[in-house]
Amino acid sequence: MTDRLTIALAKGRILDETLPLLAAAGIEPTVDPRKSRKLIFDTNQADIQLVIIRASDVPTFVEFGAADLGVSGKDTLMEHDGDLFELLDLGIAKCRLMVAEPKDLAMNDDPDSWSRLRIATKYVSTARRFFAAKGIQTEIIKLYGSMELAPLVGLADRIVDLVDTGNTLRANNLVEVEHVADISSWLIANSAAMKLKHERMQATISAIRDALEAQDAVA
Ligand code: AMP
Repeated sequence: MTDRLTIALAKGRILDETLPLLAAAGIEPTVDPRKSRKLIFDTNQADIQLVIIRASDVPTFVEFGAADLGVSGKDTLMEHDGDLFELLDLGIAKCRLMVAEPKDLAMNDDPDSWSRLRIATKYVSTARRFFAAKGIQTEIIKLYGSMELAPLVGLADRIVDLVDTGNTLRANNLVEVEHVADISSWLIANSAAMKLKHERMQATISAIRDALEAQDAVA
């Protein structure tokens, strides 16, 4: 009996950039997940299916074996901190996790003098770890979106958020002041599946690695 594999992906930028890579690795969904409301998709390979879920749920599905492989942003992985393998940096959806604050505050602010901060972020654990490592006390306020609004309405002095072009920060009079981490999307794997479905997993991972190397060679 052949082992069936389930690959978990998230809608949006990760899906848009992962589908061409999977296609180059010989894995193509029979229906375009970007144009369907289905959650499970068969592929041209009878033993591989895709599930399309929320980005923040991908590590959970993979950790608990509901998916064997997945593609997840490093930001989500840092926050999840679970038992799974981070196999390959796919170089997809690159951005950076930054501390940002209002431009006016930044003019007379020195990050080296920070001792106590009130931070709004979606990345509570990551932010707590980052500041604790610098000996800075924090009050962290968890938000699910529109972090940029927090300093403008007095909810927090600073935010920890993803920055790509910097346009969102600029539009809200905020500036980057500290770098927390470089972010990109990774191929992740369930640790039991790596042993129990060894052959099928290795063949799939190798195909994705080869496709990635071929892509990088052209770029
Ligand atoms: P930008 O204006 O290009 O700096 O993008 C910043 C906004 O897009 C923020 O609201 C971020 O949360 C979001 N963002 C930027 N890059 C990514 C990414 N790679 N993955 C998810 N969200 C992102």
